[in-house]
Amino acid sequence: MLEFLEVGKAFDVGPAVLRDVTFAVRPGEFCCLLGPSGCGKSTLLYLTAGFEAPTAGEIRFDGAPVRAPGRDRGIVFQDSAAALFPWLTAEENVAFGLRLQGVAAAQRRVVVDRFLHLVGLDAHRHKFPRQLSGGMQQRLQIARALALEPRLLLMDEPFGALDAHTRSRMHAELLRIWDATATTILFVTHDIAEAVTLADRIAVMSPGPEATIRRIVPVALPRPRDPAVEGFAQAYREVRELFADGAAGGH
Ligand code: ADP
Ligand code: MG
Repeated sequence: MLEFLEVGKAFDVGPAVLRDVTFAVRPGEFCCLLGPSGCGKSTLLYLTAGFEAPTAGEIRFDGAPVRAPGRDRGIVFQDSAAALFPWLTAEENVAFGLRLQGVAAAQRRVVVDRFLHLVGLDAHRHKFPRQLSGGMQQRLQIARALALEPRLLLMDEPFGALDAHTRSRMHAELLRIWDATATTILFVTHDIAEAVTLADRIAVMSPGPEATIRRIVPVALPRPRDPAVEGFAQAYREVRELFADGAAGGH
């Protein structure tokens, strides 16, 4: 469904951030992109969103090269305070993209209701983002992205700023939403436990510069997963060995 073919990205100065990134995300899959801070995860996600173009290789979505942003790819950013519109209420934030798409008011209301309900924010629809907790803001971002019914949801460390308890609740919520919508998810994180908790497969990146995909690790554990569940520690160790440093073998 989504293919990265020898994708590279260099900015004007310095060495290339990404080099020879090749992997594919399958339809309906929950795929985690795991790598240390600064390795180029956000860059890769922004290329997929079409905000920027690769300087080498190609990204294909449904067989066609990605050239620009599109409603078929929704994105959830790490920083809700920056991503949500502070002057709009929760429901207006969700409706915003629909309005841009020219969706009529009555239909907008139906869609907004559906997705606010899906993320459990019905009771908070008239609040502004600053009146919502961090976890609620992230759920609002998810609702806003899903309202456009993207086939692919791109998530950039969406729960990184949340406390451990809220984060683990959000994991359960996200898996429920993934189940309910059958959306394909590409989820960026630097947290090994988070990747093992969520992913069907983990694409482990090497540290930058010239970061690439070191290995794809399938996680076959049943859900819901929990560090106390049998097999979790073993999967965690396997990923950690790849993740730890360059010494594990940069190929
Ligand atoms: P991650 O999300 O894995 O923490 P990023 O993708 O944000 O990493 O950044 C990877 C590298 O690319 C960093 O060294 C960063 O400074 C660099 N980088 C990102 N965006 C730009 C840009 N627009 N211009 C120059 N360098 C950039
Ligand atoms: Mg990042």
